[in-house]
Amino acid sequence: MLDIQKIRADFPILAQKVNGKPLVYFDNGATSQKPQVVLDAITKYYKEINANIHRGVHTLSQLATDAYEEARRKIQNHIHAQFAHEVIFTSGTTHSINAVANGFASILKAGDEVLVSALEHHSNIVPWQMLCERTGATLKVIPMNEQGELILSEYDSLLSEKTKMVAVNHISNALGTINPIEYMIEKAHQVGAAILIDGAQATPHLKPDVIALDCDFYVFSGHKICGPTGVGILYGKEEWLQKLPPYQGGGEMIATVSFEKTTYADLPHKFEAGTPNIEAGIVLGTAIDYLNGIGFQNIATYEQRLLEYATAKLLEIEGLKIYGTAKEKTSVISFNLEGIHPYDVGTIIDKLGIAVRTGHHCAQPIMDFYKIPGTIRASFAFYNTTDEIDIFVEALKKAQKMLL
Ligand code: PMP
Repeated sequence: MLDIQKIRADFPILAQKVNGKPLVYFDNGATSQKPQVVLDAITKYYKEINANIHRGVHTLSQLATDAYEEARRKIQNHIHAQFAHEVIFTSGTTHSINAVANGFASILKAGDEVLVSALEHHSNIVPWQMLCERTGATLKVIPMNEQGELILSEYDSLLSEKTKMVAVNHISNALGTINPIEYMIEKAHQVGAAILIDGAQATPHLKPDVIALDCDFYVFSGHKICGPTGVGILYGKEEWLQKLPPYQGGGEMIATVSFEKTTYADLPHKFEAGTPNIEAGIVLGTAIDYLNGIGFQNIATYEQRLLEYATAKLLEIEGLKIYGTAKEKTSVISFNLEGIHPYDVGTIIDKLGIAVRTGHHCAQPIMDFYKIPGTIRASFAFYNTTDEIDIFVEALKKAQKMLL
């Protein structure tokens, strides 16, 4: 059992008032709040060891390099990667996906196919569209059903020897659907395709095991897992990272440079051009330690309780429709109140101190599927409570009364 009051005390921002009301933060899908240990680690880095890494002989540079590489090993252990050099620091999920998509430009040719799913965030659609435009490959879409689940029989029939890449999220940010990625990975490999898993929404709720999954790429963002913004991870199997060309050129990623020819550095540096976000990389390690200290099993169990509690309470509101009712889903609820624009609800409940996301959630094709402009999305974290859900439900009723 989690001691929620103790956990909440770790997050200074949660004690704040917003618009004169205690903050109820239900926008965790967009970004998570940061515990004091993470805030302290940021300050400690700049107070004590700030220096550029991998190039200085001086003590601070060595300390910063050691801390950065230790964070890489922590992340390696966390996702159970075979080698630390399979863990590439990027600026976030978006950067990670673009790095892979860009690399595949050297592999794809006209007639090849890339599959994405109907449930993707724009950042797992647009880079693949750009890749297809560049190479003449075709982008195909794995459809979803009314519940917001991918239709696996359709996935099976879309796969062929033409499929070179499947890019799918582990968990949908807009609906919370947990996709059957184990099955999807196995099927992609049966036709010789590579598969990238967008773990941006999964990593706050579970601990991925990339060896057990056998995915080729797994990507996520630090800011959604209690870490700083500006850092993310690209995990790639060694053989793929060796094969793909680097995404960006510059300092740090080279072995030798002359005007005639440049040779690239070994992994992971080949994909880490320029000065990275050193502090954020190091502190991501702190955030992961913090989450593991709470325990992902505890987090998942508690968040499922919040999901069930909130779903039941919300369904008591007349005219409320939930989008995304998959059997396997995480603590995200997307919904609308009949006859009311989601934006108007979001604006009113903000005045009551409640933070939710309204709109298309960077997943416009999902909104088009349901023929709606957007939804109100409440996304819960392990530091949220059923009391907050009660406040939220009352606020929604108030907004409904005002707007109808
Ligand atoms: N994929 C999914 C499923 C997401 O939820 C997000 C963030 N909302 C992203 C990708 C993009 O992440 P970032 O903006 O941190 O690059």
